[in-house]
Amino acid sequence: MPTESFVDLHCHSTASDGTLSPAEVVQLAVRSNLSALALTDHDTIDGVAEAAAEAKKVGLDFLPGIEISAEFPHPGNMHILGYGIDPHSAILKSLTTTLIAGRDNRNPRIIARLRELGVAITMEEVEKEAGGSVVGRPHIAAILHRKGYVSSIKEAFNKYLAAGAPAYFDKERLSPKQALEMIHQSGGLPVLAHAIQLRTDNDAQLDRIVKDLLDLGLAGIEVYHSDHNAEWISKCEHLAARYKLLKTGGSDFHGTNKAHIPLGIARGHRVPREFFDALVASMSR
Ligand code: AMP
Ligand code: ZN
Ligand code: FE
Ligand code: FE
Repeated sequence: MPTESFVDLHCHSTASDGTLSPAEVVQLAVRSNLSALALTDHDTIDGVAEAAAEAKKVGLDFLPGIEISAEFPHPGNMHILGYGIDPHSAILKSLTTTLIAGRDNRNPRIIARLRELGVAITMEEVEKEAGGSVVGRPHIAAILHRKGYVSSIKEAFNKYLAAGAPAYFDKERLSPKQALEMIHQSGGLPVLAHAIQLRTDNDAQLDRIVKDLLDLGLAGIEVYHSDHNAEWISKCEHLAARYKLLKTGGSDFHGTNKAHIPLGIARGHRVPREFFDALVASMSR
């Protein structure tokens, strides 16, 4: 009898705002009995080469990925995952450079505001915390937590960093169209991440958004995710069936920056190997 096999198609490393190195994420995937992994750092593929090399060494199937934040009206968030992108793509390199510049433009403003609010924090500390080129709010949150300004990462967002909080500044984003085009042009397949975060008012609005993305080349929808309860899993399954979209799933693991989320587990659900196989199959077409 074949044993069941599970994967994780959404996770972050130190290349963006996770706390494990790409190789460590791969090693954890093996210890968590996963058979395949996709690394989906925000705005960068800097971690992909290290993860791919480690995966090859330990015999884990691996897909390069990325997660892009697209323009979307407040209070929603639209994140697009890209799978199977070519790490050498020039268009990818140029766009990720622009996105990282957008972050570099935003972060000093956050730090300046925090200092006005009486928080002792410097840009140097934040850069050291981030390690890589992608500096995100979870890095700032980790420092606020360590220094005792807040009792959790969550509180750092609620009190300072979330949209609407006093030290919030938005970063430059791509339009959904640009994000999907960039992923296609760099050889990847675009997938709508955690649709619950769109914060749509009703199913008709959600349907329209997915339909519009489909017209722009959307290939899949994330069904399992740490934010998705049974209702959202079902909504996404219906959309996948209706629009013939690939189904994906992942934990959105960030190491201790989201300590409550274990690799391989999306709100109690594991992600079936078939999702990975179907994604890979549609890439080679
Ligand atoms: P940034 O890339 O700097 O915009 O930060 C995005 C990261 O912050 C993602 O990993 C989000 O999941 C995380 N994040 C956003 N809002 C919150 C929140 N309210 N609590 C905890 N993490 C959050
Ligand atoms: Zn993140
Ligand atoms: Fe996301
Ligand atoms: Fe993510």
